[in-house]
Amino acid sequence: MLRQALLVASRSGGARRVVETAPFTGDVVRRFIAGETIEDAADVTGRLTGEGLLVTLDVLGEDTHDKGRAEANVAHYVELLERLGAAGLGTRAEVSLKLSAVGQTLDEDLALENAGRVCEAARSSGTTVTLDMEEPTTVDANLRAVHELRRDFPDVGAVIQSYLRRAEEHCAELAYEGSRVRLCKGAYAAPAAVAFTDKEEIDRSYVRCMKILMAGKGYPMLATHDPRLIEIAGALSVLHERDADTFEYQMLYGIRSQEQRRLAAEGAQVRVYVAYGRDWYRYFMRRLAERPANLRFFVRSLAGR
Ligand code: FAD
Repeated sequence: MLRQALLVASRSGGARRVVETAPFTGDVVRRFIAGETIEDAADVTGRLTGEGLLVTLDVLGEDTHDKGRAEANVAHYVELLERLGAAGLGTRAEVSLKLSAVGQTLDEDLALENAGRVCEAARSSGTTVTLDMEEPTTVDANLRAVHELRRDFPDVGAVIQSYLRRAEEHCAELAYEGSRVRLCKGAYAAPAAVAFTDKEEIDRSYVRCMKILMAGKGYPMLATHDPRLIEIAGALSVLHERDADTFEYQMLYGIRSQEQRRLAAEGAQVRVYVAYGRDWYRYFMRRLAERPANLRFFVRSLAGR
């Protein structure tokens, strides 16, 4: 219930104004957001990669309804990628892109063209792009875009959300040689008609999906902080005799940082999803929705000053 309410609030202009202008919101936001500028992102990326972690960078600014804004987002990604290339970070840091940030709500073809420009810039910097998965209504369009983009950029990463009833089908379709696939549980409000709503069911679906991906020929990117699922992932890698460089774990910046370092110290590849930018509201609300304790911490920090 609370999760649904927070996800609904993530799309509400009124709630947005309240949260964005609340005093001291910034302290809590900074736990999950790496900063506002390219410089902030570059600093955090340098620090994390220096510690042996991999990074994927997300420029905040989803659900754009304005062509100029979509264009600005593309330009920002291109600048960021040039910066990563110039710093020699292309092999350790990639970008995560939301089609809704580059015009999907205006025109699917425009978003595809814009995503292609970001992929081109990534290629020039020796790195890759993963297309984040968003609202359930956009899943088919997103998978079509992955398919289209992979004609020119075979290394474009896809994302599968295990809360979707069709997740296993998506995994089976995407578990082919060279296919980079991030598996996550799913962070958006999703109706029971298309998604599991019970946590246990979502977790069981995640395990079934992981089994398909780890048994397949692709490159699984296991995005979860869930200790049980991470343990099962380790067992599957042994079962399928996967070397450490044939799959990776992924976690969000600011969440279970110790675990990220522990896995990396054991020789696993661990990529940290680093979001930055001024447009943090929706991303932040999804993080609150994932864990009621975050909301309590947020409310306490507002009330306690
Ligand atoms: P949960 O069962 O939610 O959490 C397991 C444990 O992890 C919790 O007990 C807690 O200890 C810790 N934890 C989890 N979330 C939080 C939090 N917010 N704050 C503090 N602790 C927490 N979703 C999409 O829909 N599309 C995407 O493209 C997408 N990309 C992602 C990329 C990465 C790298 C990651 C890690 C997640 C991504 N997600 C995406 C979000 C994902 O779908 C989940 O909402 C999120 O990861 C929480 O699920 P969990 O697997 O960690 O399991």
